[in-house]
Amino acid sequence: MKRELRLAILVAAILMTAFILTVAVTEKSNMNSIREYYSTQQLQKTADSNISLPAPSKDAYEFEANKVTVWIISILWGMAVPAFFLFSGLSARLRKWIDSKTSSFIISAALFFLIYSVYSFLLNLPLDFYSGFIRLHSFGLSNQTFAKWVSDSLISAGISTLIGTIIVWVPYLVIRKSPKRWWLYIGLLSIPAMTFMMYISPLYIDPLFNKYIPLKNKTLETEIYQLLDKTTIGNCQIYGIEKSVDTKQMNAYMTGMFGSKRIVLWDTTMNNLDDKEVLTIVAHEMGHYALGHIWKGILLGGLLTIIGLFIVNKVSLWIIAKSGGTFGFTKLGDIASLPLLFLVFNLVMFAANPIINGVSRYQEHQADTYALELTKDNYSFSSSMIKLHQTSLSLPNPGPVYEFWVYDHPTLKERVDFAASYKPWEKNKPLEFREYIK
Ligand SMILES: [Zn+2]
Repeated sequence: MKRELRLAILVAAILMTAFILTVAVTEKSNMNSIREYYSTQQLQKTADSNISLPAPSKDAYEFEANKVTVWIISILWGMAVPAFFLFSGLSARLRKWIDSKTSSFIISAALFFLIYSVYSFLLNLPLDFYSGFIRLHSFGLSNQTFAKWVSDSLISAGISTLIGTIIVWVPYLVIRKSPKRWWLYIGLLSIPAMTFMMYISPLYIDPLFNKYIPLKNKTLETEIYQLLDKTTIGNCQIYGIEKSVDTKQMNAYMTGMFGSKRIVLWDTTMNNLDDKEVLTIVAHEMGHYALGHIWKGILLGGLLTIIGLFIVNKVSLWIIAKSGGTFGFTKLGDIASLPLLFLVFNLVMFAANPIINGVSRYQEHQADTYALELTKDNYSFSSSMIKLHQTSLSLPNPGPVYEFWVYDHPTLKERVDFAASYKPWEKNKPLEFREYIK
């Protein structure tokens, strides 16, 4: 390994340590200021005198600290797993062994991916089990049985391993045929791939985890379709999903494209909120469709993939050039470079998180605006937000660094404050999204 590479690793380690310390300090001071605020009063005043944010429970503080810690560990672990495979020479040895068994490029790439996926799955298992099962039960957030957790984990790892094993030769073939431009071609290919996945997910993948169920509350169903008629969305199905087998938390989401378009309500949401509150949540999801967030997300995702892979290419080539042969391969087109690509990709994604989440927060705010304009029910909007956050043990707001890096939605406090003041219809001002509301 050459001096430049050792130096780069040292600088990265110092930057990461500084980052972790900053997160720790800002989180602590944020929690202290929230505690201090509530020590004088039970409720946090919002701009609307009708609605206040109740004091977070003791569990909410603990869960927040736990979330941040697990987040940091998962970032470091996400880099350590491919780094170990790479720096220990395991990657080159595995490729050599596979090469002694087969001369087919496609089979050897598939076999390498399959074995690497099993290695990565096993090493990630303890953290996944802790974060996805143990701690959710210990905070009383989960209803999931151990058997369901195992089957969900195996199904999701199975799907991604299967897809990766089948297609991994494609990027490697493109890297070999066009070492200078592969990042562009793969980035462009990611757009139809994401569109295809978005179309088939609700039809074939989501039902493997949870059952879609028709809405039992027929009055609510009628009200939802009446609300849908007021939008410009057109054909869109409304489903419930049996999430109560997994969680006590509440949520809703929109998924699918073209004929598979649907808004999906967790049954926990319908069981715990009143109809008016559910309608404001559905209106928010309708906002995502009306404002074209799915196709915008895919186009932006494609653009970010192109830029991201461009950087991955540059950085990976530099690392290989400065590795001095430590890894046992000298070309990016060698399948043994897979852990290197994953490692650099994880680094780039970590750096890009604030951009991706910033865009998401912007779109979520637009969907909130749309929901308020469509329902004009600011009170139910805020009360549903408060209940959703309470059952998820969220604080009104996190520390600034964690928010900037991780939050893909505005904070609870921002959303409730916004709902308290945003009433253009009372001031005879035009609605921001009037063209998307009939
Ligand atoms: Zn949303």
